[in-house]
Amino acid sequence: MKHFIVGPVEMYDCIKEVYTKTHPYFRTEEFGTIVKNNLKRLSNLLGNFVENSLIYLTMSGTGAMEAVVENCTYKNDKVLVINGGTFGHRFCELLKHHNIEYSSIDLNFGEPLSLNHLELYQNQNYTMLFVNLHETSTGQLYDISMISDFCKKNNLELVVDAISTFLADDYDMEKYSIDITILSSQKGLCLSPGLSFVSMSKRMINKILNNSKTITKYNDFKDYLKNITRGQTPYTPAVNIMYELEAMLDFIDEQGGKEKWLSEIAQKCQYFRDKAKEFGLIIPASYSLSNMLTPVICENVNANELVKYLRDKYELCVNPCGGELADRLFRVAHIGNTTKEDIDELLKKIVLSIEEIKNKELVYDRK
Ligand SMILES: *Cc1c(COP(=O)(O)O)cnc(C)c1O
Repeated sequence: MKHFIVGPVEMYDCIKEVYTKTHPYFRTEEFGTIVKNNLKRLSNLLGNFVENSLIYLTMSGTGAMEAVVENCTYKNDKVLVINGGTFGHRFCELLKHHNIEYSSIDLNFGEPLSLNHLELYQNQNYTMLFVNLHETSTGQLYDISMISDFCKKNNLELVVDAISTFLADDYDMEKYSIDITILSSQKGLCLSPGLSFVSMSKRMINKILNNSKTITKYNDFKDYLKNITRGQTPYTPAVNIMYELEAMLDFIDEQGGKEKWLSEIAQKCQYFRDKAKEFGLIIPASYSLSNMLTPVICENVNANELVKYLRDKYELCVNPCGGELADRLFRVAHIGNTTKEDIDELLKKIVLSIEEIKNKELVYDRK
């Protein structure tokens, strides 16, 4: 089975090797030093240079989204959410669950986020803006520069779920005055699922430390911030993934560093899109796309059926869509250990599968 999904991705061999090793006891100075070093390097990649501002949690990305909602909001906060699909909707649900006042900018499929959308919410006492910078369910990559300017002008704290944009597109916390970044191990970092990361600005750390409301014991960032100064966590972390992270950071450096890494993914992505168009596949053009994945619109066959067919018959795994897009759209990821040859093979099999499914239906109709 070859995976072209956003995560867990096709893993690199050097990470798989780490995966099979057993690792030493974690309440040691040795492990603490490894953690501190890894987090500092990851922080640099994020463009956050505040000391001890990056913590990690043993939970999936959604766990970190919820922990951020808990730790980073006061009762009197008023939040604006960009809701352009499944993950924007998830932020809404989490805010609602935790009784935080919010409004959402709800985008239809194919509708790009514009300054007009944002400006409707000016001067209305909003205090924070939440965005999944790459809305993975549709592939839309929002304009961080526009969002950042809007937040600065209106004095909003900016919370970014960068889970499916980090290490595929440009990202810089300092440049865009981002207060929170949420990451997850299984996406751009190409590691096993199970760890998530939260990087914070100085002002957000102060807000969290002064937050006197009761927070779920396991999710309390105050504990994580205190422990991380020694490279420790309050509870047992997914130790093996921390070692995978070390191997990945080394691997990115060996491959020429972050810029080179991003340009390799951009090339793979462009290669797929050019070829896909040659084959007559339709890629949405009304909004900007992340380099992490390409959504493809299905006109003649059911997208969900195509995804299943590719998996069952050709052992090729692409991302289906959920909800109302399930029948119309599927998504192909460009991260992980896949090559241009793999892309050629995938495209050939997509086109073949579409024909085969259509023929099957024809035969069925005649019966
Ligand atoms: C994958 C993803 C998440 C996290 O999903 P989990 O399954 O909880 O790890 C969150 N936000 C975005 C934008 C994602 O792509």
